[in-house]
Amino acid sequence: MSVSLAAVLADSAQRHADRTAVVFNDERVSYRDLWAGARRYAAALREHGVGPGDPVAVALPNSPVFPMVYFGVLALGAVMVPVHTLLVADEVAYILRDCEAKALVCDASLLGTAGKAADLAGTALLTVGEQRDTGLPRLDVLAGKVAPVDGYLPREPDELAVILYTSGTTGRPKGAMLTQLNVVMNVSTTMLSPFDFSVDDVLLGCLPLSHTFGQTCGMNTCFRAGATMVLMDRFDAARAMDLMVDHGCTLFQGVPTMYTALLDVAASDPRRPPLNRAYSGGSSLPVVVLERFQDTFGCPIYEGYGLTETSPVVAYNQKDWPCRPGTVGRPIWGVDVEIARADVEDRVELLSAGERGEIVIRGHNVMAGYLNQPEATAQVIVDSWLRSGDIGVKDADGYLSIVDRKKDMVLRGGYNVYPREVEEVLARHPAVAQVAVIGLPDERLGEEVCAVLVLRDGHQAGEALAAEIISWCKERLAAYRYPRVVKFVDAMPLGNSGKVLKRELRDHFTAR
Ligand code: ATP
Repeated sequence: MSVSLAAVLADSAQRHADRTAVVFNDERVSYRDLWAGARRYAAALREHGVGPGDPVAVALPNSPVFPMVYFGVLALGAVMVPVHTLLVADEVAYILRDCEAKALVCDASLLGTAGKAADLAGTALLTVGEQRDTGLPRLDVLAGKVAPVDGYLPREPDELAVILYTSGTTGRPKGAMLTQLNVVMNVSTTMLSPFDFSVDDVLLGCLPLSHTFGQTCGMNTCFRAGATMVLMDRFDAARAMDLMVDHGCTLFQGVPTMYTALLDVAASDPRRPPLNRAYSGGSSLPVVVLERFQDTFGCPIYEGYGLTETSPVVAYNQKDWPCRPGTVGRPIWGVDVEIARADVEDRVELLSAGERGEIVIRGHNVMAGYLNQPEATAQVIVDSWLRSGDIGVKDADGYLSIVDRKKDMVLRGGYNVYPREVEEVLARHPAVAQVAVIGLPDERLGEEVCAVLVLRDGHQAGEALAAEIISWCKERLAAYRYPRVVKFVDAMPLGNSGKVLKRELRDHFTAR
């Protein structure tokens, strides 16, 4: 039986040939041309010796070239290994060595990093875009000359399609091996629900295509449906507003920091795009942000939950069910989600509705494992369940709430404090624009709860405001968990996908 992720674009090129697949700056690329471009890149990669099963590392920013190379790699039956453009040379070299990449395809603007990484790992480097004469092979030039491949090589369901390195918010990158079936099923399932894509949809593609959220929920699902994606190379809220208005975007997908930034822009910009739904994921969306966004933009936000290791979508709120803000909805079709005892590691011991524990996931979306890391794989895939590392609770109707990451829990004087619950309270304070709650080392208590805040315009950081914020929390939270320490920052440190890097905050304030 064949199941091929390449069919996502190949099929739409037949069904929706003249429709616009991608808009980028002044460029509009039809499905026909996007697939033709992918087949040209496939032929060019083949000239460089890439064949079925070969991992190809790709460091490209968001632009129409990304999907062309992505589907070019897949058309050959090779394995796509996206590399985020913000990684440093050592990190890229680690990935190249780990997956034994046949080649690294990089944008000319990234030659400094990519060149060093390719040298370190001894990997062939293929470039895309104008560059000073480096003598390096230009894949885009070759793709313009060669005859395109005819179609794609069909794959078996359990053959690898993509290796996605976890972004490392909490540690060393691990290559999650996603099969053809994993990704095709996640795309085909979520296209219907929760995302409910139609050919008439226009999505703002502001998430990096190298990350699972932008890549699968955005690009792949959009192409599967024959919809249009308006690409941005880097998220900027003012520019996002312009693009959504100019191109009539009907749907938005983003991480919570993007919703906050859009609200800031909307405060002084009266224009509103014709959005009819928005999807949040990646980290917890404070309910107050959801409410403000819905009031301001007049469109619902559906929050959901996913992981790189689950291709990625696990659960989502969606229009066909009553939306429950503060939850991530119910599991997607064909996927089981349960809560297990977090303290029992060698087996999965399931708990009942209403009990808190570790979220475990079973279904067509669970990865084949971590590349070259059988021990790490055996720690997370137990009794055919994937242990998510997240603490959650399911209610009697099956709605899942994420309490927090196990690793982010603060242990204060013997009590477990889950930052998310404290963040919800802080997000409602009128001076607070963004919040992250972390644990800082404390001699007496082990850890102390610390609120790191970005303020809204017009509010002054200082001891008076810190004291006021502490007493605001004290009125609303139990004594063991309200923050005793408040730190103000101008901006949060953000990871590749726009998530707040709590580890960096902890390191920063612990070092002081
Ligand atoms: P790491 O690299 O440490 O594995 P990551 O953030 O880089 O972490 P991703 O696969 O991008 O890895 O993100 C998955 C994680 O994001 C989940 O395990 C969960 O902690 C968090 N997450 C996703 N959606 C939500 C949500 N709606 N609410 C809270 N947390 C969420």
